[in-house]
Order: sequence, then C-alpha cells, then structure tokens
Amino acid sequence: MPIELVTIPCLSDNYAFLIHDTATGRTALVDVPEAAPILRTLAARGWTLDEVWITHHHDDHTQGLGAVLAEHSALVRGAAADRHRLPALNMELRDEEHFDFAGHDVRVMDVSGHTVGHIAYYVADAGAVFTADSLMALGCGRLFEGSAPQMWDSLTKIASLPAETLVCSGHEYTAANAKFALTIDPDNPELISRSQAISEARAAGTPTVPSTLALELATNPFLRASDPAIRLLLDKKNASDAEVFAEIRARKDAF
Ligand code: ZN
Ligand code: FE
Repeated sequence: MPIELVTIPCLSDNYAFLIHDTATGRTALVDVPEAAPILRTLAARGWTLDEVWITHHHDDHTQGLGAVLAEHSALVRGAAADRHRLPALNMELRDEEHFDFAGHDVRVMDVSGHTVGHIAYYVADAGAVFTADSLMALGCGRLFEGSAPQMWDSLTKIASLPAETLVCSGHEYTAANAKFALTIDPDNPELISRSQAISEARAAGTPTVPSTLALELATNPFLRASDPAIRLLLDKKNASDAEVFAEIRARKDAF
C-alpha cells in the first residue's frame, strides 16, 4: 500500500484522518478537532506533518490547529470561499481544483449544504474521499447554512465517485443515523443487516467510519431519494429527487 490511511477518534464523536505516503514519508491531516490524539498518533508512528486540509469552518474541525502547528510546521489548505472564517491558510482552494500531494492527485469538491464553503477532498490513489459533515455514514450533515437542493447536489457529486471509494466522514453518529434510516427505508435488507453490524461495532468500541460509497448507496436514505419504496413511504411519488431529499432531511431534524 503506497498510501496509509489512519482514522483518529477525537473529542467525543469526531474523526480526523492522516494520509501518509510511504514512498516519500509525507503526511497530510484532514481536520483538527483536537490536537492531543493527533500529536500522539504522529509521534507513535514517527511521522512529521506536512499538510493540513480543512473541510469547513466549524470549531470541532479546526480548533486543534494552533497546537498541532506549534509542533509541526505544516502547510494549511482550505476553501478560498471561507478564508474570512477559517484559520490562516497557506493555500486557498476552489471547487474542482486539483493539487498534488506526494505525487498523488487530490480533487477539491465543493460540497456546500451543512455550511456554504464546505469542501471534500478526493484522493483517487488512496481510494478515499474526505467528506466531514457532508456525506456521513448513514447520514448527512444538518443544513445550517445551505439549502436542501444545494446539499442534494453535493451528495450527488460524491455519489458519482467509484463505488469502492472509502467515505471518510467527520463524526461517529452512525448508530443514531441507523435508527432514523430504518424509519425511512424499513424493508431494505442491506440496511437491516448494516444496522445490526453497527450495533455490534459500537458495542465493541469499533469505529463505523470509514464506510464505502457502495454501502452508502445501498443503505443511506439521504442518497436514496429516487428509491420507489422510499418515495411511496413518504407519499412523494412524483416529487423531484431534491424534494424527496428535503423531506428526509426535515424528518431527521425532527427525529
Ligand atoms: Zn460541522
Ligand atoms: Fe462537525
């Protein structure tokens, strides 16, 4: 494996990720919820941080940055659109921009909805997309700033990546998401078995993140607005996919 991917639990239910290129020894970090567990993981592996990639401005994704930069002089990347409310950036990124990390292409995707200016990072060589609070395991981020059609658009872009892509999202909300998903898609056998697997993983203290896009497409109600059974249950047979998504999001907010 030329790229090593490490999931780091932070705070009570956040995740940060390390992307390590074994050939060059270069290491990137996605989001900084909390410095201590990240610094511990870097030290344990003997890695030096070269880059930090920020997904969006919320504190639970950025607040550890100062303490991490005090020990590692890393280059910080984030959305140009959010420069006014992100920590100081060295590289400002725009939608569909590509940059190079240790010889690997990284695609920047605007996935606004949870916030406006939220970006995801797709690293094809790692077979991974870093989605934070856009597409999440069995869920999606709450719409604090963007609209439902905007989030639907963002999720649709992520859904068009290769099915085997690892979805590295920002939170361990999966067990609660599963309870809700079963109210929307109760007869989906893949969702039923995934819910069982999630309960077992959480009972054992195992993260449910990352998941795969294939699994999300089969079970995540927020990606399944076109599913006939879901449309029937929601009484939305002739609505647009974005309208069905908006109804599912509204029901989750009230769940
Ligand atoms: Zn957030
Ligand atoms: Fe968050």
